[in-house]
Amino acid sequence: MNLPLHLSTNRVDLHEFQQQRRLLAKIADLAQHRRHYVATAREERLLEGLLNLTDALYDWAVERKGEPFAVPRIVLNVSGGVVQEVFCSDPHAQVVLIDWDADNADPKNEHVITVEWEDYKPLVAYVVEFPTDPLSVLWGTPVEAVLEAAKIDVGLCECEAPGRFCSGVPGILARVRKNGKLAAGAKVERCDLCRRYPSDTAAFQALQDLGLTE
Ligand SMILES: [Zn+2]
Repeated sequence: MNLPLHLSTNRVDLHEFQQQRRLLAKIADLAQHRRHYVATAREERLLEGLLNLTDALYDWAVERKGEPFAVPRIVLNVSGGVVQEVFCSDPHAQVVLIDWDADNADPKNEHVITVEWEDYKPLVAYVVEFPTDPLSVLWGTPVEAVLEAAKIDVGLCECEAPGRFCSGVPGILARVRKNGKLAAGAKVERCDLCRRYPSDTAAFQALQDLGLTE
């Protein structure tokens, strides 16, 4: 599972996390045997820390528009031996392109990088951070058609197709105005095909958390 940077192991105290896990197991065990449990002051601190961690995870999930632990899907579109486009389900993904066919590139270009490597002649590469597009822009394109023909499911759902009820947020069906905000009195439904949200209420809540309601 890829956690965002602020939750990655260099910020989470692993020793404390192990203590928290042991405490949870103990409480679960006591509950299973219907035995009473009273937390000590130290255990209360551990539980408090766990709550903060789950809050951070929840915020992150909302930020990811309801796809907290989905495996990121990446589609590379290459033509003429050159990467033309990168589509990614994760808006936070950063893609770096390294192209070794850079011998004729302008050495003054800041993205043309030269490195000395062992006894070979200097190596030249074109190195650039490549912008990504969301997978939903693939709807109705030849890339989508070829993916479908190849029976490769990148997780595009009907709810992401442009149309009257496309909210712009995967998993949520609702009529939105040009500025992306919910139209007055519009009904919000979760998409029953991809079920990214547990209920219509949760879908509405997600739009609200994203500042798309008024
Ligand atoms: Zn859907």
